[in-house]
Amino acid sequence: MVEDPHKKWGRMIGSLYLEKNEKPVHIWENVDYMRNNGLLALTNKKLVFFKKLGGSNFQPYLRINLEEIKDIAFKTFFSIIHKCSVTVTLENNVFVFYGRNRNTLESLRNIVFENINFRKEEIETLQKKKKNIKVLMDFAFLQDYMKNGGLILPFIRCSQCGAPIELPESGKNALCKNCGNFVRAQDLFEKIKDLIG
Ligand SMILES: [Zn+2]
Repeated sequence: MVEDPHKKWGRMIGSLYLEKNEKPVHIWENVDYMRNNGLLALTNKKLVFFKKLGGSNFQPYLRINLEEIKDIAFKTFFSIIHKCSVTVTLENNVFVFYGRNRNTLESLRNIVFENINFRKEEIETLQKKKKNIKVLMDFAFLQDYMKNGGLILPFIRCSQCGAPIELPESGKNALCKNCGNFVRAQDLFEKIKDLIG
């Protein structure tokens, strides 16, 4: 009897080091990589090859981030050997997986590609969100941001004359009453975001 491959997720999930919002998507059995037999696991963020150690023990062996994948090519030799080449953008490295079952490697290409697209869209959305924060940045946002981060800043020093400037409750700029210099909420945010993390 063949074991349901998805049951294997249970045993491997710890080794996948799933990040926040990361979930397992698919698993392919009986895949070879660098003369090692194992499993290829796909999450919505990465592709992980698990080397078979014996019995039902597997060890993570290779990890590829989906957004780094440039291309996946599928090829069959002598109708029995099926090969999938995964090209990643970094130095054009190519990782080659072999399978004895045609369906295994054929589905790999399509499913991984679909998830690469999801992942790229997700990254784009995150970057857009970051950009929006940049545009909206003002002292009202900054005060909230500091409050949530547990940072208390009674005043800042003017970058021009060194006089203390009280932080306003709103607006995009803080005025130095001593020299008339403006401190932008955006610039201050850039400085304090590393403090809060
Ligand atoms: Zn000043």
